[in-house]
Amino acid sequence: MNKGENGEIDPDFVARLVDYLEFDEGRVQHLFEKNYLARNWGKHDYLFRFDKEISRIERGTVLYEKDDSFEVIMGFPKIRRAMVLDPTLKKHFSGLEKVTVEEKMNGYNVRVANVKGEILAITRSGYVCPYTTERAKEKLDLRFFDDFPELVLYGEMLGPDNPYVPKEIYGIESVEFYIFDIREKNSGNPLSIARKHEILEKYDFLQVRSFGKISLKTAAEEIAKIIRTLGEKEHEGVVIKDPEMVLAPLKYTSSQSNCSDLRHAFKFYNEAGRDYMLSRIVREGFQTVEWDENEADFKKRFMQLGESILNPLRESIRSVKNGQRLYEEAKIRVKDLKTAAEFENYLKRLGIDTIFEEPQPIGNEYLIIIKKINKSTNDKTQAIWEGEVW
Ligand code: ATP
Ligand code: MG
Repeated sequence: MNKGENGEIDPDFVARLVDYLEFDEGRVQHLFEKNYLARNWGKHDYLFRFDKEISRIERGTVLYEKDDSFEVIMGFPKIRRAMVLDPTLKKHFSGLEKVTVEEKMNGYNVRVANVKGEILAITRSGYVCPYTTERAKEKLDLRFFDDFPELVLYGEMLGPDNPYVPKEIYGIESVEFYIFDIREKNSGNPLSIARKHEILEKYDFLQVRSFGKISLKTAAEEIAKIIRTLGEKEHEGVVIKDPEMVLAPLKYTSSQSNCSDLRHAFKFYNEAGRDYMLSRIVREGFQTVEWDENEADFKKRFMQLGESILNPLRESIRSVKNGQRLYEEAKIRVKDLKTAAEFENYLKRLGIDTIFEEPQPIGNEYLIIIKKINKSTNDKTQAIWEGEVW
């Protein structure tokens, strides 16, 4: 088993894992062979990540040996989407008096935990991101991790100095970590919302905006109002949660956020997934019907939708026609230039094609502009201009 990311896997290690996971040996071997269970690299090569959902183990789950056993940091579970608010909320949360509504804030998903004495920031896919780790350590009161070594913070990295999902809409100057869940190691069980607030307040951690508890009976109407207001500011939407965190949450998003996703997707039309594009268009159909829009509102919606598709397409196609290459710009702000170098390496390992510009000093930190090259859309568009057929 001497291939891929995993290299040589010690047979004793496999045997211990077989005991721990209660999978048979063949299955564990298969996970390694397929890289469904893959090693991180460099100084974190003792960390394994599940690259695929296996039984009850979420994709992005991280596992490592600790003391005489293993420790697991569960991946963040996918949140199902309500396509319509009514009757979906009543059906999904049936039996509850009230639901908690939180803002779904749009950045990238991060878990921060104490991993064998070291504070690490782990991405949705289970990689240790050097940039996020530096930022998390800078932003968080690290006493939390000594007081609660068995807990994991789940949150969203938000703001403009963001290499994955840069957004100006939150009035954040650089980047901040907004927490939305606290979960236990190993089981992945979430704390209730009340307990979460209590702990987050104690350490003065930033938390996602909460709209509080709303009666299930009126939730659909109230959330529709919240969504309209959020949409006006290009905010993404809401996550609706069981206050006890026993039932799984649901999400629902604004038309403006669908359109903003579409603008990005159609700018880089050959990189974006087709499901991603189609689902955002279908959501617009359900929302206009559920909200029973009049012709004027409907017209506004379809103009916006059409523009979100065609405008970025026109821009990209025109740019390439004029001999320019398409790229995406992002920036990061680091304390230590070593972090930027590690991050550059990290993106390279992930196969992301980037150019890091010269660092500019800003206060006691450095700002670095990153250009991400979208090769596939570039090449496709270029080829079409050279007369290729689709
Ligand atoms: P998208 O973010 O576009 O919905 P996704 O496919 O990652 O993409 P899910 O798997 O459903 O979506 O995950 C929900 C996402 O919402 C996660 O990325 C999570 O970080 C983010 N999020 C933002 N705010 C919250 C919140 N208040 N509660 C839970 N998740 C939140
Ligand atoms: Mg998101």
